Amino acid sequence: MLVDLHMHSTCSDGLYSPEWLVNTCYEKGIKKMALTDHDNLSGIQLAMDAAAALPEPIEVIRGVEISTELYNESIHILGYHIDPNNQKLNSKLMEMRRRRRMRVLKMVEKLTDMGYEIEINLLNPVKKTIGRPHIAKLLVAKGYFKNSLDCFEKLLKRGAPAYVPQPKLSPAEAISLIHGAGGIAVMAHPSEINDDTVPERLIQECNFDGMEIWHPSAKTPELIEKWYKLAKKYDLLTSGGSDFHGIKGSRYPDELGLWQVQYENVQEVINWKL
Ligand code: AMP
Ligand code: ZN
Ligand code: FE
Ligand code: FE
Repeated sequence: MLVDLHMHSTCSDGLYSPEWLVNTCYEKGIKKMALTDHDNLSGIQLAMDAAAALPEPIEVIRGVEISTELYNESIHILGYHIDPNNQKLNSKLMEMRRRRRMRVLKMVEKLTDMGYEIEINLLNPVKKTIGRPHIAKLLVAKGYFKNSLDCFEKLLKRGAPAYVPQPKLSPAEAISLIHGAGGIAVMAHPSEINDDTVPERLIQECNFDGMEIWHPSAKTPELIEKWYKLAKKYDLLTSGGSDFHGIKGSRYPDELGLWQVQYENVQEVINWKL
């Protein structure tokens, strides 16, 4: 059985709505899916309603991907089975979205100074999570770059000329918020962390419940095996997903169902109960 526990909608930096994601999972035979928007829970109910309206409902796991930082690295933390109405989590995420808005404005200012003419629409920016992919989209639309990957490489990635750091939660804070909202905390895509000693340090220092093993960034069987062994060493649950954003010319597959996760590998995350 195919499942996918990592995808983004228009509530953050994905191209498609939560409803579209649910309907497309259904069409592609993905029977269990998690919506994991960045720092935002507002798509979860929409996805659940869309799933309930299908001829044969698929299971939607309530998810989120929280951006954190430690050791000068971006650490993304997936929360599963969270209560989307949890007040503490919602108000902290709202604060993070406000900070993202300020940061995007600073980056646009920098780009303007560099001669790029873009205008960002920040209407309702707090309901939606905005970030660098939104800036990349504008730069590509204006013809400055051929795709978003190119924009990140030349301008937007950490340390690049238009990069502005964003104030972020610590992993420990994010994990505690996820636990407080009744969920489990899973370290996202360890292969994306530059220093490969950091994942184990994080496991030792923080209260993770699981680790994302099957992800497009873990490009070789050896890498998958390495993270799998690390998860088992610390008795962590194993998870996986495509990190689908729907954006052409980005790092990962731009079609849902192309990059596949098997139910057997991630069933403990799916069926987790308090
Ligand atoms: P932000 O939330 O503004 O820090 O942007 C992070 C998002 O940008 C990630 O979730 C990815 O979707 C995308 N992203 C990050 N790094 C890259 C990269 N090197 N190339 C393309 N997309 C990236
Ligand atoms: Zn993203
Ligand atoms: Fe991520
Ligand atoms: Fe993601």
